[in-house]
Amino acid sequence: MTGVKHQKWWGWGVEGISFTHDDKPRLAPFVMEKIGLDLNAPGTPPPAFDDLEVPASQLQDDLGTKLRDAVGEQYVDTGDLNRVVHTYGKGLVDLVRVRAGDLPRVPDVVVYPADEDQLRQVVDAVVAADGVVIPFGGGSNISGSLTPQADEQRVVVSLDLGRLSRVLEVDEAAGLARIQAGALGPDLEDQLNARGWTMGHQPDSFKHSTLGGWIATRSSGMQSDKYGDIADITRGLRVVLPGKVIVLRPLPSTSSGPSVREMILGSEGRLGIITEAWVNVHRLPENREIIAYLFPTWAAGVAAMHEISESDASPTVTRVSDANETAFSLSMQKPSKGLAAKAGPILFNVLERRGWDLSAACLSYIGYEGAESHLKHEKAIVGKIVKKHGGIKLGKGPGSLYDQKKFDTPYIRDFLLDIGALGDVSETAAPWSKLMNLYANTIRAANEAYAELGVTGFAMCHLSHSYHSGACLYFTFAFPPSTDVAAEQIEQYWVVKKAIQQSFIDNEATISHHHGVGTDHAHWLEDDISPAGVDVMAGLLEAVDPGRNLNPGTLL
Ligand code: FAD
Repeated sequence: MTGVKHQKWWGWGVEGISFTHDDKPRLAPFVMEKIGLDLNAPGTPPPAFDDLEVPASQLQDDLGTKLRDAVGEQYVDTGDLNRVVHTYGKGLVDLVRVRAGDLPRVPDVVVYPADEDQLRQVVDAVVAADGVVIPFGGGSNISGSLTPQADEQRVVVSLDLGRLSRVLEVDEAAGLARIQAGALGPDLEDQLNARGWTMGHQPDSFKHSTLGGWIATRSSGMQSDKYGDIADITRGLRVVLPGKVIVLRPLPSTSSGPSVREMILGSEGRLGIITEAWVNVHRLPENREIIAYLFPTWAAGVAAMHEISESDASPTVTRVSDANETAFSLSMQKPSKGLAAKAGPILFNVLERRGWDLSAACLSYIGYEGAESHLKHEKAIVGKIVKKHGGIKLGKGPGSLYDQKKFDTPYIRDFLLDIGALGDVSETAAPWSKLMNLYANTIRAANEAYAELGVTGFAMCHLSHSYHSGACLYFTFAFPPSTDVAAEQIEQYWVVKKAIQQSFIDNEATISHHHGVGTDHAHWLEDDISPAGVDVMAGLLEAVDPGRNLNPGTLL
């Protein structure tokens, strides 16, 4: 027993928690209408783990001895379950493959160092043996950045950072904290909160992803409008390479040449193993509120988010869903009781009388933090902008419901897989001037892909993470494939995913705003940063890791 908890080998989160629609009476009719799938039909649960054929570990005795000497017997695991858990992330393809027992190459061993010194010994021993080291945080990535290459002949070591989970120090005067890279979201926030501080980084995967993983994938959290993306939050780093350590002190800013800090951000394990980081932290806010608003159309909602980003207001969250995502969110609601049960229909009647087409309405969440007077001021500014764009305030109730439930939604994907639908996401960012075309063309591309496959699919989107010059668009898509065969399902998935990703490139957007490149998005890297940009990146990787020992295959 290593003391490190992992997610399910076959899906999201921990065993014992799963999605149910029993308490959401509107969901089954919604799903039937949109993709023709009966949520009440008997599903196909994942197979029993013992039914999988897991390739035997190829760990040689001499390397095994060195690893045990470095970290201790108990922290070197060649067990099948743990090796499978460390084989995949949580992308749709990962889930389909692992459920189908598609395990061409799993790590030969999982190693759990307790500190940087042990970790250096592990890296040096593996590289000296010409093995492969794959750093593992929470295993939550959805870009295919953890899986060993299928034809990898060398020994593959999954280096699990789970025992490096402590906040080491807080520099209160600077608002900086030094935190070990294996800390999961709740680990580090609990420790910071106990001292009155927060990092404010809350990706939807918060509970099952780590600081090191966030940095290595250039993650972004829902409150990025206030706290910044992880690229802004991360100030200093320690990164282990074979035989050496990169040490970057936490500086508010520096002009010391091209930024090595920025090179490590998004490096996906290809430029070494991040052992700790100095990050910006903030005093816990006095108040925190998420308010829900409703806009008559997507165009009105997007225009309002743009105007808010240019205004004197500085909300923590700015998010608006398109009409499809709004309808999906409403279908996920539990039945209301008492006054709330009556309020919804009354409001909708009023809006219809005002001329709203409710099927086009778009739900928005705006987050506020700070002193009461600050919140009042911010809400007044936002309220005026919402009104100007024809929107209305729904209030705190639905906002706090969204806030409470945001970490539960990911469980739905496993449920959909049981029942026979593939669901996944693609996200991007583009200048404000490109967003409306990007949106329309990407939804069209997804629908054309469904038509090509002859399936009934659904695509929805929200805007979140506003910046001076643009914002992130986050697309979710789902469809029941026309085959039960895993490999064919994956082919069908790629028809839709590729159509969406290609649309990003065709509409002057990036291949990913916050999920990274991995193997899934690598195909479009040249389009994103130009062939010359890829050459520079390839040169950097080659110089740092000439033997391709550090997570080869991902990124480039
Ligand atoms: P892992 O999946 O373990 O690893 C990801 C990559 O980073 C791998 O290449 C790995 O080798 C490398 N790596 C990990 N640790 C280190 C280290 N210490 N040093 C060097 N390299 C390392 N992402 C967001 O940004 N925002 C979201 O809101 C968000 N929501 C999500 C919701 C769901 C349901 C899912 C499944 C994913 C979501 N993601 C989100 C994606 C994912 O959580 C992020 O990519 C996250 O940053 C990965 O962190 P991890 O610790 O799980 O890394």
